[in-house]
Amino acid sequence: MKDSILLEGGYDMSENPFENAQKQLDIAAEKLNLDSAIHQKLREPMRIFEFDIPVKMDSGEEKTFKGFRVQYNDARGPCKGGIRYHPDETIDTVKALAAWMTWKTAVVGIPYGGGKGGIICNPKEMSQGEIERLSRGFMRAIADKIGPMVDIPAPDVYTTPQIMAWMMDEYEKIVGHKCPAIITGKPLELGGSEGRSDATAQGVIYTIIDAAKNLGIDLKGAKVVVQGYGNAGYYVATKMHELGAIIIGVSDSKGGIFNEEGFCPFKAFDFKKENGTVVGFSDTKEITNAELLELECDILVPAALENQITKENADKIKAKIVAEAANGPTTPEADEILYKKGVFMIPDFLCNAGGVTVSYFEWVQNIYGYYWTREEVLEKLEKIMIKAFADVLSMSKISDVDMRTAAYMVAVKRVADAMKLRGWV
Ligand code: NAD
Repeated sequence: MKDSILLEGGYDMSENPFENAQKQLDIAAEKLNLDSAIHQKLREPMRIFEFDIPVKMDSGEEKTFKGFRVQYNDARGPCKGGIRYHPDETIDTVKALAAWMTWKTAVVGIPYGGGKGGIICNPKEMSQGEIERLSRGFMRAIADKIGPMVDIPAPDVYTTPQIMAWMMDEYEKIVGHKCPAIITGKPLELGGSEGRSDATAQGVIYTIIDAAKNLGIDLKGAKVVVQGYGNAGYYVATKMHELGAIIIGVSDSKGGIFNEEGFCPFKAFDFKKENGTVVGFSDTKEITNAELLELECDILVPAALENQITKENADKIKAKIVAEAANGPTTPEADEILYKKGVFMIPDFLCNAGGVTVSYFEWVQNIYGYYWTREEVLEKLEKIMIKAFADVLSMSKISDVDMRTAAYMVAVKRVADAMKLRGWV
């Protein structure tokens, strides 16, 4: 067994996420009887950029950070994907996430390829000024490799609309003209889209509604557990609560909380804002993140980081639906165990595609120069998510495969068809 790397929440990152992404592709390729030249091309990214970013820290010291941008595949359109700031970022994580973006944009049928970026840094230990200089430095390093018709970054873990604004500003200085479509997830004042901040969660909700309908589960009174209480997790918990579901457990990097009768996710969030964690919220019992995942519930939403459900704990998962708001929370071995147990999986790149879909709407609005209302955005998002879910469910029934394999089959086939039409193979 490889050495394990313990992240802030103490979870095991010994699995290589890129190897997982490749294994998942291999399964779909076999089912699709995919041409081996296409399969080999799809197992690796088209382009990888790795660079140093020198930053003057507040202390006057010059510090060098490592940045990455992976352009995985652009057969269906410009690469699209977020930028993560994380102390444990690795090129393998970025490659895996870039691959998943390729499948994600394909499965929802938006005209993009996939990409991802990251910087090894700990934004929690940096001042706003240091983060701004780092973000501008990242943009200077990749400005000539990206563009609104080449590669369009966006926010991800620990990156924000403010960071996108700095990056856009830096890019516009370099090219000498306004270019809001260079990056998405911007503040509304600078060309961001209505509905972007909760788009990922809204997309998760649309897929949970469809999955529950398919299984005959009434969401009113359904018991929900959410791991991770950031942008994705918080909005999923509060939206499920508004639909009448009962939130019985949530967690963050410091630990989890549980109350069988349920609690108010809005109040839990207020508590987290004041105390830095949900742990200690009134009328709840403190539990570990490991215990949280194993709670008896209808819907489990991993919304933190990758490799949370592994072969070690998959058998103990009691949820009827696992809705992967996070990217890569389940390993392939765990997937198999869950499938055999009859757990209905909504795979990450389908489940959390609402964010990139509204990012696409933002890009369209930027290019168009005409902006939509929140209602228009949500109406368009719902249509896309419902169709994507239906395409995957139908593939899973026709091919008699689990939902993740079905999602891969739908997505890989679309990317492969685009590559063939371009004459790349
Ligand atoms: P975030 O930084 O806003 O929140 C992450 C949350 O997870 C925080 O509450 C953090 O405390 C918690 N956390 C960290 N380590 C943990 C651990 N070991 N156990 C439990 N909780 C832990 O990030 P986010 O934007 O909500 O993203 C969460 C996941 O969703 C990521 O996998 C991300 O790639 C994915 N995702 C996010 C978006 C988006 O638009 N925000 C879109 C698609 C996918």
